[in-house]
Amino acid sequence: MTLSPEIGARVSAATHCPYCALQCGMTVTAEAGGAAGGGGRPEVEPRDFPTNRGGLCQKGWTAAELLDHPDRLTTPLLRGSPVDWDTALDHIVGKLTALRAERGADAVAVFGGGGLTNEKAYLLGKFARVALGTSQVDYNGRFCMSSAAAAGGRAFGVDRGLPFPVTDLDDADVVVLAGANVAETMPPFLSHLRGARQVVIDPRYSATARAAVEAGGLHLRPAPGTDLALALGMLHVAVAEGYLDRAYLAERTTGFDAAWRLAAQWWPERAERVTGVAAADQREVVRLLAGARRRYLLTARGVEQHAHGVDTVSAWINLTLALGMPGTPGSGFGTITGQGNGQGGREHGQKADQLPGYRRIDDPVARAHVASVWGVDPASLPGPGRSAVELLDALGQPGGPRALLVFGSNLVVSAPDAGTVRSRLESLDLLVVADLFLSETAQLADVVLPVAQWAEEEGTLTNLEGRVLRRRRALPPPDGVRTDLQVISELAARLRGSSPGEPFPADAFPDQPEVIFEELRRASSGGPADYSGISYARLDAGEALHWPCPSVPLGGAPHPGTPRLFLDRFAHPDGLARFIPVEHTQPAERPDPEFPLWATTGRVLAHYQSGAQTRRVAELAAVEPRSFVEVHPDTAVRAGLVDGAPVRVVSRRGSATAVVRHVPGLRQDTVFLPFHYGGEQTVNLVTNPALDPISRMPAFKACAVRLEPA
Ligand code: SF4
Repeated sequence: MTLSPEIGARVSAATHCPYCALQCGMTVTAEAGGAAGGGGRPEVEPRDFPTNRGGLCQKGWTAAELLDHPDRLTTPLLRGSPVDWDTALDHIVGKLTALRAERGADAVAVFGGGGLTNEKAYLLGKFARVALGTSQVDYNGRFCMSSAAAAGGRAFGVDRGLPFPVTDLDDADVVVLAGANVAETMPPFLSHLRGARQVVIDPRYSATARAAVEAGGLHLRPAPGTDLALALGMLHVAVAEGYLDRAYLAERTTGFDAAWRLAAQWWPERAERVTGVAAADQREVVRLLAGARRRYLLTARGVEQHAHGVDTVSAWINLTLALGMPGTPGSGFGTITGQGNGQGGREHGQKADQLPGYRRIDDPVARAHVASVWGVDPASLPGPGRSAVELLDALGQPGGPRALLVFGSNLVVSAPDAGTVRSRLESLDLLVVADLFLSETAQLADVVLPVAQWAEEEGTLTNLEGRVLRRRRALPPPDGVRTDLQVISELAARLRGSSPGEPFPADAFPDQPEVIFEELRRASSGGPADYSGISYARLDAGEALHWPCPSVPLGGAPHPGTPRLFLDRFAHPDGLARFIPVEHTQPAERPDPEFPLWATTGRVLAHYQSGAQTRRVAELAAVEPRSFVEVHPDTAVRAGLVDGAPVRVVSRRGSATAVVRHVPGLRQDTVFLPFHYGGEQTVNLVTNPALDPISRMPAFKACAVRLEPA
């Protein structure tokens, strides 16, 4: 990092993109005095980093526009009026203290995000459990990664999205992408697939599918919610056609027989009837995988965001285990994490059932370890709380929380059944939102706290391959703006002594990122996601450190981290991977005469998540200024909808407006909508909050709708 104290000088910081989990390397150059220094807009340049190799997508190239954006919040707001920080923080703590005294600690809830740095995720989870004493803490990663995480955990014993560096894909012969549209979500990722025959499994003829087909690959189009049946059909092919890797099965796995008993009923023609994917295509893909020396299968939200998402991911893992792929050099299974710190964000304790280091909060040994680092009695730590959707649904209801503190989430756009979420937020006694902009959720808040953003702060993130990265500050935040860490620290200082039990240590909530990371190292030590051997100094020296990276030296040198997991053994105590017996079940909601179409949702190239940031970037807003619905032209004709017509997409829960976009490559029974827009264009007014029974992830990817001219 280069930082000059002289106001007026141009300074640069080597950092990473604020958006997705590819965490492309970039350099930010800015005026030393910040955006207010008058030296022109901060600028972004790509830099060479293994995940992006000097490339950036449109979102990354334009990210600096957020830094001096006129919409930036620079003063706290109390019921819409500007106030000073002391007034805002005192108001929050006064309300929280009264609520806790009247209704108990669980009357207060905390909601975090997968874009928060590791330090923020760690401190926020600790703040909830120690300063507030509440079990009611969860985060928006529950919407993104929880099904993949649960499936990875039960098959391999630990969840790391890609258990190998993304550059390993460069040498692949075959890559299967199930429910992943990387051409739009993370375009530089495509550069790692150029040498491979690609197979894309997606109900849409997505940009990724088009790229694969144009390069000689395949596109399979299962009906929404039927991916599990497709994976079962392909496992059947693997066994019936003699591709089973029996030596691998015997040496490295357990549980095949039980999984096969179910898959044996799914001959490919039966899978074809359910999924719409030709049996011949199923056979061809399995032959491709079985015949390749270097082969990978990667899943993403398309197969995960369902009411049976965990089982669906397990079905794909079973297929790869049958073919001997996971933990084999040059081959593997992985899931493509979406949010910028989607991996680190699920490891350090902002999730309802976890403590730092990817420890379980109901594990007495884990509780004792973390409590000792925190200097509190293990018995004082609350147990597991409600998962995100259940937490939001309980807000303001009998027995539910009456106050919510939100960091890094725009819930009224990103949560399923957003109309109900809005009414729950409106029923609270206190809603506090820390954000850069007056997001749709911040507009509902009693108190809004203006916080710093990516290039204005230090910290670490963990990218999609489990590599820990340094986020570096290029410029100070605008006057009046504080970091999330400062906000948490200030609130904790005011809350100290107000709880009925022993007060927590006075220095328990520092606001310096490196100090917090040092504590995180100790808290994670010995856990599945062990960061104890990682330090700012090692990262700043340019070391590529993937967790687990224990503090115990290896071969007389500091532990080098673990770029590739599972090469010798999986993380279960016996070292074996688990086949999980899974069976296809119908999606939670199916089309019927009243709502005859499947609706599926996803991202577009120009926008990121709820769009609270990218919708404010002029260049990106010009590309995709408003929501649209992709419809097959024949389906559109039947509904009387011409290309470009305004339309209302209606489900049992509500409706969203959009503009019709005719797309011949789409299934005729399916429509697609992006989820980046607010107000009446909020697609989550339509989506189904049905939850996976294990991960508690909502079914964003399949619900029943009808189209009405608007
Ligand atoms: Fe890279 Fe993702 Fe940022 Fe695009 S959004 S520049 S792919 S990190």
